[in-house]
Amino acid sequence: MLGLMQDRPLLISSILEHAARNHGGAKIVSARPNGSLVRHTWPQVAARAAQLAHALTARGVKQGERIATLAWNEHRHLEVYYGVSSMGAVLHTVNPRLFPDQIAFILKDAADTHLFVDPTLMKGAEALADHLPGSLRTIVVMGTEAEIPDPCPLRGRFEVVAQESLIAGQPGHFDWPELDERSASSLCYTSGTTGDPKGVLYSHRSTVIHGISVLQKDVFNIGAEDVVMPVVPMFHVNGWGIPYAAAMAGASLVMPGPKLDPASLHRLFEEEGVTFSAGVPTIWTALLQWLRADPSRRFRHPPRLVVGGTALPTPINAGFLKEYGINIRHAWGMTELSPLGTANARLPQNADWDADRFLDYARKQGRALFGIELRVRDGEGKEIPHDGVAFGELEVRGPWVAKQYFNRPGDPAFTGDGWFRTGDVVTVDELGCIEIVDRAKDVIKSGGEWISSITLENLILGHPAVAQAAVIGIHHSKWDERPLLLIVPKPGTSPTPQDILGYYEGKVAKWWIPDQVEFVDSLPLTATGKLWKADLKRTYRDRSAG
Ligand code: AMP
Repeated sequence: MLGLMQDRPLLISSILEHAARNHGGAKIVSARPNGSLVRHTWPQVAARAAQLAHALTARGVKQGERIATLAWNEHRHLEVYYGVSSMGAVLHTVNPRLFPDQIAFILKDAADTHLFVDPTLMKGAEALADHLPGSLRTIVVMGTEAEIPDPCPLRGRFEVVAQESLIAGQPGHFDWPELDERSASSLCYTSGTTGDPKGVLYSHRSTVIHGISVLQKDVFNIGAEDVVMPVVPMFHVNGWGIPYAAAMAGASLVMPGPKLDPASLHRLFEEEGVTFSAGVPTIWTALLQWLRADPSRRFRHPPRLVVGGTALPTPINAGFLKEYGINIRHAWGMTELSPLGTANARLPQNADWDADRFLDYARKQGRALFGIELRVRDGEGKEIPHDGVAFGELEVRGPWVAKQYFNRPGDPAFTGDGWFRTGDVVTVDELGCIEIVDRAKDVIKSGGEWISSITLENLILGHPAVAQAAVIGIHHSKWDERPLLLIVPKPGTSPTPQDILGYYEGKVAKWWIPDQVEFVDSLPLTATGKLWKADLKRTYRDRSAG
């Protein structure tokens, strides 16, 4: 027997209409590169998104057509987010920090017809001119006519138009189509640290359900009174769903633009009364260092922060909590998961833990959000015990998890029985909390046993002379692989290999301790700011541990 409830589709247009209809009082603030602020409301965002949809429709943009953006967190990007998806076309956000050949690959793979480019990124787009795909018809500069570079080498090969001219004179209302909720809404490529980037094609349904999920108290905990600032870029996995979740809650939204230095962010936190923000560890680490440099730098109202993307070093978390009263919540996600999968909020079982005990626990990535199922299997395919010690590869399934990559059927990341293999190696404890111990491809396989490179890195970061650390596996004739430790020393220190390796004594099993230490000036990072182990492995390909 079927239920007798209405079957209204879950659509991105309905998020925007809801915010415009019910939350006209919230502010939408957008920082320009010169620090000036542009202010709108949800009804104004809705009207400008409608104007954009009319303009694109008039140019023949069809449902399912891919529309790319190279843009920061700012109001015109938000309008493209809503206008493009609501009309049934597919918003394709591209990370401007990727290498040019990766951007060219992604645009070609997606076969985008329009490319929206922030004026500050036009030079990058011009450099790509010879590699832009044949499908591309129009470059939209996200500003006024005056912000189109003159001369503009892209003119002549493509139509080049300013976003303000495009929408000028268009009606501020659009009868959004009643799409199938499973229709594609947006497309984002994985960072592709090894091999080509892979496209993840989100649907209206997956995006709406993910947005509702992240609003929950134990996830982002966002309501209408909140002022939400996504520092996480809107070009990276739907800005962690914040542009949608904020509108669902009717919250105010502050978009920091291209300037993510601590002083610019702190100004927005204070002047706009930001109550919630989310970003990667590098952002919060830099903010903490900046705050500490001058005791007068405080928060009038400490915001709540969420961190994800890579693990948050506990000393950063501890510094925020103890010195500034700011709670950082650790969450884990992936492009393939829209992105949120787990978050580490307190449970009744640990509610009475003091700050230090929970800070230590907060290094873990958290428990599954409702809707996400986790399965962890060891190398033989057996599910591991939930004891916080055994580890295996994490697999997930749920309504906002990809089931296939765009243009790439049959990828082995998707199991025959409907799970996505994350490539993350984790432990699970008695409370169901996961801790990432490595990427499957970075685990060091020594004599048939696994050594967690991340555990070795995190431990050595506690050494007073270590600024940054990376551990990779290098070839060994007897043990297959052994760990090589790379260290960027803190300025003014000159540790010896004995100092460094001695630090591991008593903290890990003897056979985990790296055989070699190499001191380096810097470590390579990916376009999303993560340690680029594939590059390090290439560099040390011919190194042998014995
Ligand atoms: P991306 O698809 O670029 O968002 O990268 C996803 C990967 O980032 C995951 O598979 C993890 O390896 C890593 N990651 C994401 N969040 C965390 C976290 N909180 N702690 C450690 N690693 C993380």
